[in-house]
Amino acid sequence: MTQPFLPAAADARGRAPTLGVLGGGQLGRMFLHAAQQMGYETAVLDPDAASPAGRVAHAHLQAAYEDPQALQHLAELAHAVTTEFENVPAVALKTLALHVPVSPSAAAVAVCQHRAREKAFIQAAGVSCAPFADVVDEAGLATAANRPELFPGLLKTATLGYDGKGQRAVATAADLPAAWADLGHAPCVLEKRLDLRVECSVIVARGRDGACVHLPVQQNLHRGGILAVTQVPAPDVSAAQSQAAVAAAQRLAAALDYVGVLCVEFFVLADGSLVANEMAPRPHNSGHYSMDACDVSQFELQVRTLAGLPLTPPRQHSPAVMLNLLGDLWFPDGAEQPPRSPDWAGVLALPGARLHLYGKTDARPGRKMGHLNIVGADAAEVREVALQACRVLGLPPF
Ligand code: ADP
Ligand code: MG
Repeated sequence: MTQPFLPAAADARGRAPTLGVLGGGQLGRMFLHAAQQMGYETAVLDPDAASPAGRVAHAHLQAAYEDPQALQHLAELAHAVTTEFENVPAVALKTLALHVPVSPSAAAVAVCQHRAREKAFIQAAGVSCAPFADVVDEAGLATAANRPELFPGLLKTATLGYDGKGQRAVATAADLPAAWADLGHAPCVLEKRLDLRVECSVIVARGRDGACVHLPVQQNLHRGGILAVTQVPAPDVSAAQSQAAVAAAQRLAAALDYVGVLCVEFFVLADGSLVANEMAPRPHNSGHYSMDACDVSQFELQVRTLAGLPLTPPRQHSPAVMLNLLGDLWFPDGAEQPPRSPDWAGVLALPGARLHLYGKTDARPGRKMGHLNIVGADAAEVREVALQACRVLGLPPF
């Protein structure tokens, strides 16, 4: 087993302990902040000069993810490397893994990168998911069209989908060919549209020794396929459902032989049963509340798993509501008008409001610009303050 590399202890070559991340988005930025808080130096590989993580890293290697020289450089700088997005090219993780510990592994990421592989994996691990069919060619399309139990359904691209992108609703089999054409005949899965009572997710962190801890179950509200609100404790998820979700997430992490932070999204159906939706091989938007509501955040868990540090069970000390702040907030009068900064002073005047902005200068509708955590001593009070924040920001109530 790799020895833990402790912060603030130089190695034999005199290098300060350095953690690296592939990908410079907001998840990478918050990971770097957690690493820096614990005394690590940080390095990020991202092609974008203005990437949120690149701008706060000790070293920003500005190059393509598959650039052999940049990967070599990252492996020299960092004592261990993680990723912050699941579409990272497998070759990048594999190349790095020849030189430094990399977690999660390329194999685990590959499962999460591909919806059909992911669903097959979930089922093989004994966890239920929505009924589905692979649609990769005309024959697959015809087979799927002949399964009435899959309609009404959702056709989702097997790869590269996020925030509801790459999905088409298909009411009946007759809609399937046009939906598939609309998705460019890319490999897809057709999934039955389920009657969701509520959505929730669980974040687990698993170390190289197999030790596994988890955050409490998060209740998630999506609008237009994008996460809008997370509430923890989850008001509409029973204790038994929470236990089942945690057990399923831990089982999936073990089946993947996973090292790192893994998020599993679940649907609670009208009959109360639980099905897994998808997995993210990294911290997740629904875990952001942990930054202010838990003694160990999802990003610190990522640092700990990567550096081989002890994993203590995180404890939530405050009820929390997280509001996602999308670029739409900058355009209260429509996307044609120049952007206007939201009323941060009004939001920050609310008790227990913790504002996190990702340093993105360019607001666009649908773009994740930041999040607002509301914490407090009492869940009802936190909800009340969060509703006030919604009014200040012009967000719909939840
Ligand atoms: P993404 O990768 O974009 O997050 P998801 O598969 O998680 O894709 O879908 C986004 C959202 O769409 C889900 O959180 C849920 O609200 C809705 N959704 C996805 N699949 C289904 C389904 N089979 N039945 C009902 N709603 C679904
Ligand atoms: Mg999702």
